[in-house]
Amino acid sequence: MSQMHESVSDFHWLLDVLQTIDVGILVLDLDFNIVTWNGFMENHSGIPPREALGKNLFSVFPDIPQEWFEHKSRTVIQLRNRAFTTWEQRPYVFRFRNNRPITGLAEYMYQNCTFIPVSGVRGEVENLCVIVYDVTDVAVSDMELQKANNQLQRISRVDGLTGLFNRRFWEEQLVAEFLRLSRSPHPTSLIMFDIDHFKTFNDTYGHTAGDEVIRAVARVTRESVRESDIAGRYGGEEFAILLPDTAAEDALQMAERLRETIENTVVESEGSRLKVTVSLGVAGWCDSFRNHAEWIKRADQALYRSKERGRNRVSTEEKA
Ligand code: GH3
Ligand code: MG
Ligand code: MG
Repeated sequence: MSQMHESVSDFHWLLDVLQTIDVGILVLDLDFNIVTWNGFMENHSGIPPREALGKNLFSVFPDIPQEWFEHKSRTVIQLRNRAFTTWEQRPYVFRFRNNRPITGLAEYMYQNCTFIPVSGVRGEVENLCVIVYDVTDVAVSDMELQKANNQLQRISRVDGLTGLFNRRFWEEQLVAEFLRLSRSPHPTSLIMFDIDHFKTFNDTYGHTAGDEVIRAVARVTRESVRESDIAGRYGGEEFAILLPDTAAEDALQMAERLRETIENTVVESEGSRLKVTVSLGVAGWCDSFRNHAEWIKRADQALYRSKERGRNRVSTEEKA
């Protein structure tokens, strides 16, 4: 008698634990009717046990993808194995509003779930238990970390003044393209260009106006290139564009259009109408280049030929 009393009291406090534990516990029969619905499930869904117990899970939670859930459950029941879902694969199984103040950025509770087969006294699997863990805080901090990493990555690639790629990242792209070309050659070109007489410009209009002009040249460049072209700020007033799948003749045309657009661009700054020109050099990739630096050198030589020929023009090494 006292033994029975003890087991009843055990059962009582076990139920208490089940009700108050801070994880969701849901037991289903094999037709997906709800058998157990603990306090966590009640508190987060707003559905009291009397409205949940005995009901079919999919009628209580119409947003659960039924086919997916049934498939997952059948595997658990047939193989008598646990299965898991993580928030990375599926942010939540049960759509509960997130109401934690610290993780207020998340609209819904992120969840990890464990599916467990539950056997009856005869050893047959008679029920399926789903344990729901609230991992919103982990998910939110993980996503924020990811966002911060992406931002850092972007910042580390981009030049602060112009928003073009910085020299380091641009050159990494050139090296990668150079390696691709060594394996499978195809026409690819490089344009280097430099603002003309920019020292005099700065001396005349000041450094701030100079910065505005550099930004304007970068904007025009960005607007002139194709999606696949890679434009970077190579130095102070020097820029570079890698044009994959572009023959030197086509790059030459593109450079000429860019030259003309920059020549016709007016930058309004503190009441002045500012204009600059650029000199450009174009070099197509050659299989004789031993490294990417030789390619840059070739484009740079073409650029300096444009300077020598009077500036505000485009040159290639060949057509000097
Ligand atoms: P050239 O036509 O031969 O290119 O003459 P240049 O005066 O442009 O050439 P030089 O290389 O002598 O001078 C480049 C000038 O560009 C000097 C430098 O102060 C200016 N410069 C470089 N970076 C920046 C920048 O970020 N902002 C401003 N405002 N000026 C810059
Ligand atoms: Mg220069
Ligand atoms: Mg210059």
